[in-house]
Amino acid sequence: MIPKTAIEKEISALSASLKPVTAQMNCWAEQHIFLKWAVLSRGKFHCLECAHSWKPDSESQSCQKYIACTACKGRLKMHQYNQVHFKEIEYFAVTDACQGYQVVRIICSHKNMKKNFLPDYSHTEVMQHWINPKGEVRTTSRSTNVFSQAYDAWKYYSPLEIRPKDFQNSPKYRINPYKVYPNLKVIALLKRNGFKTSLHGIAPQILFTALLKDPIAETLLKSSQKSLLSHYLNFHEQHLRENWQAVKTCLKNRYKIQDIKIWEDYIALLRWFKKDLGSPALVCPENLDEAHDRLVAKKRDIQRKKHLANMRAEIQQAEPIYKQDKKQFLGLSFTDKDLTVKVLDRVQDFLHEGDTLHHCVFTNEYFKKKDSLILSAQIENRPIETIELSLSKMEIIQCRGLRNKATKHHSRILRIINKNLPEIAKRLKKPKKQTAIA
Ligand SMILES: [Zn+2]
Repeated sequence: MIPKTAIEKEISALSASLKPVTAQMNCWAEQHIFLKWAVLSRGKFHCLECAHSWKPDSESQSCQKYIACTACKGRLKMHQYNQVHFKEIEYFAVTDACQGYQVVRIICSHKNMKKNFLPDYSHTEVMQHWINPKGEVRTTSRSTNVFSQAYDAWKYYSPLEIRPKDFQNSPKYRINPYKVYPNLKVIALLKRNGFKTSLHGIAPQILFTALLKDPIAETLLKSSQKSLLSHYLNFHEQHLRENWQAVKTCLKNRYKIQDIKIWEDYIALLRWFKKDLGSPALVCPENLDEAHDRLVAKKRDIQRKKHLANMRAEIQQAEPIYKQDKKQFLGLSFTDKDLTVKVLDRVQDFLHEGDTLHHCVFTNEYFKKKDSLILSAQIENRPIETIELSLSKMEIIQCRGLRNKATKHHSRILRIINKNLPEIAKRLKKPKKQTAIA
């Protein structure tokens, strides 16, 4: 993009005037940002760091994830597959201060490895984040290959160009370098706002802009709430703002949150119980897990009770309708020795039937089905199977026992019902005649 505004022109010119990343910095990166590798090839270990190769001592050694080089003593990670070329790509950053701007330079480094050769490195500065004292940022970057699946397939020979303001929404902007070159150069304002030397695992451009424009970030850093700070800057800004009162209580009491996710959950529970989020005794529990679990259990208990009350109300409402719908069948029962098949007389009985046999006759509101008659086959008053009968077709739709399985009484139950279908049909006709007369 061609610089148009005064700021874009200024940053483009300053960027061109920056001294290149030094050989010393690159050398530091080569030592610090990459893993060391080994590979097993034709029965021999090859150190891809010093080109040494040797025979394993034992069979089991070849299955290890890491191995020590017998020559350079490096701790080597084993490559899973043997191939000709091996490659590792990492980012590092260099910080700089230039004409009042805080600059974060992002370098993409390649380590190319081959058996029997020393590794070969290349380093390309791919982005510069220019942050002004107000925490506003503009980035210059190289182009990326838009046809690549990776968002950071850099075109290494394209120039560093100023990017539009919305570059901050690009995943490239949030690239967090694996390490930052020591001897950080930072503007005085950042130091005043609490920055010392540690980035706490946060991408420098994210931490710096936040420290310059956002008092919350500054407060969190100054009170060394590091896990809160990184949580806040990692897309959870909204959560922290919502819980700000509780966060303030933690800050005031120097309470260190062990596990942010659990704590946020816990605060949500406190809020549900309408508790005071200014009370340190509540907001800063000594044993967070225990306090959290206790509230979860308490809430579940309340919800269960509420659910039961709702169910009771629902049953009460459904009861008269069911009685009216099925009045001609109520009290109907057929007995064969120890086995009784009877019509469910109340909606309450559906609940009992469903609870005993673990099926959905109550949950799915079979008592509301106009064309179905539900019967229970029982031995010694205990439900064995539940039967659904179609009234219009006068046939059994289903007959199921515990967890919807058939029991050993199944065929006997079917026989009893089929034998008594005429009795049921007889009752079905009566009210129809009445309505016909009416
Ligand atoms: Zn070695």
